[in-house]
Amino acid sequence: MTQKTAKLHAARRAAEVGEPLPRHGWRRAVAVYPSPYEVAMSNLGYQWLFHALASAGLGVARAVWPDAALLAEVERDTLRAIDDDRAAADADVWFVSLSFENDLVRFAELLRLAGLAPRAAARDDAAPLIVAGGVVPMLNPEPTAALADVCLLGEGEAVLRPFLDYLRDHDPARREDFLAGLRDLPGAYVGRYYQSRYAADGRLLAVEARGGFPARVAVPKEARFDPLLTRLHLRAPSAAFGDTLLIETARGCVNRCRFCAAGHLFLPFRPASPPASLPRLGEDALGLVGSNVSGHPELERWIAAADGRRVTLSSIRRGALSDAQWARLTAAALAAAALAPEAGTARLRAVVNKPATDKEILAEVARAAAASIRNIKLYYLIGLPTETAEDRVAIVELTQRCRDAAMVGWKAKGRAGKIIASVNPFIPKPQTPFQWHPYGDPAERQKQLADLRNKLRPLPNVEMQSESPREAVLQALLSLGDRRTADLALRVAEAGNIQRGLKAWRPDYLALLTAQREFGDCLPWDHLDIGVRRDYLEKEYENALAGKTSPPCNLGHRCRLCGAC
Ligand code: SF4
Repeated sequence: MTQKTAKLHAARRAAEVGEPLPRHGWRRAVAVYPSPYEVAMSNLGYQWLFHALASAGLGVARAVWPDAALLAEVERDTLRAIDDDRAAADADVWFVSLSFENDLVRFAELLRLAGLAPRAAARDDAAPLIVAGGVVPMLNPEPTAALADVCLLGEGEAVLRPFLDYLRDHDPARREDFLAGLRDLPGAYVGRYYQSRYAADGRLLAVEARGGFPARVAVPKEARFDPLLTRLHLRAPSAAFGDTLLIETARGCVNRCRFCAAGHLFLPFRPASPPASLPRLGEDALGLVGSNVSGHPELERWIAAADGRRVTLSSIRRGALSDAQWARLTAAALAAAALAPEAGTARLRAVVNKPATDKEILAEVARAAAASIRNIKLYYLIGLPTETAEDRVAIVELTQRCRDAAMVGWKAKGRAGKIIASVNPFIPKPQTPFQWHPYGDPAERQKQLADLRNKLRPLPNVEMQSESPREAVLQALLSLGDRRTADLALRVAEAGNIQRGLKAWRPDYLALLTAQREFGDCLPWDHLDIGVRRDYLEKEYENALAGKTSPPCNLGHRCRLCGAC
């Protein structure tokens, strides 16, 4: 164990606010998040996970992606847990939280840094049992299933408790028996019991269950959830939202935007009421998290629950906030607001099922600026189905007009602000109506982003942000890939570079990105049942291509449209 790592871990523990995790319990679990500490400690899924493990009586320690400055040291020594400095491999079970597809690369790397084989098939019974959960395997478990022994598919509250009951009664070191016995457990997906069949040309024909595991895997969800559990439990001041008590306010979304994976995966919409009182961990702000926080039926009560803290909203939908609510948010010191027009034209916004006229968007921006909000972020996607060059030109025009609309409010307050255009490549996601759509040619996407940057950069009070196009390509392949795509994560991890990893994996990867999937094709996640019917998704894709919108959920009216209620 090296001095530097021990010092950093001690400093982190000393700075954290909240209950320290229990070191001893009926088994030793390591809660793993394959991103840096600052990102991990701002993730509600990860916070829920280590708190739930501790509440169940396990000894719990956390392991995250090491700091860049310490990576060489970890290579020489081993991956160690933050909470007790013990080797992460010295555990009965790892629980790995996967929120983003590209985390699969770091997941593979963390296994290697811990001295464990990244592939499940190459580990023996002496290795900890590796359990993975989170949005990534819930959408498409196949790439993850090559690395983890077990994927837990479902909302944490619904799948973790039965799994822990099973773990208490069965020895994970007797791996073969342990895994075989999971066949009846809700949401337990054991990769070795699901085998893919391919055609001679490499197309996926089927994913077939063996060993008594269900052919169709139900992904359990809870009818309601307790926001006091899905909140920040341990506040790390150096984290991305280090001064904010993040809390989940709703799951699912009534609007069913066709590109949105979380909005579909967590259907039906389930808003939570604010608790009678919220704990305090010495934070300045309350961060309300959900797919459409501004549309929450009890938003006013959530804002009131801030009780003197600043309020931040993870998303604001056009038209969802009244003037009075904007004023309440300003009174609660909302400093920045994010709106997501998604596309530059009303036509393309109808395609993605987020209908709005330019006038409505401009009015919302004007209201935000008049409410003293100085940083207004506008989210756009490029590469959407049916998109044309005119749609991209319209992104520049709309941003410029938003800036002009905001300037009126800013001038009245005597202080100019900034419009931040966040433009990113659209990535088709499993379990959404766009799951059949191709990502497209990465070179074209890169050119389109550069063109937008050139046009937006000269505009005063406007800034453009975008993610790396290479990361987007990796995400597109890992999102939609079958079991063989785990090799891509391993190759990128080995190469330490996306481009080299892609070439080493499959020089013809471009064909995968540009291929249009047909309704008759077998998709790697077709055997999962998240509650939303496939024929509904097909119809929605057809509606999108025809430019037709679908109405929001009609809650409380015995709707059967998508199958989730
Ligand atoms: S069944 Fe109807 S109300 Fe329920 S989630 Fe689907 S569209 Fe919405």
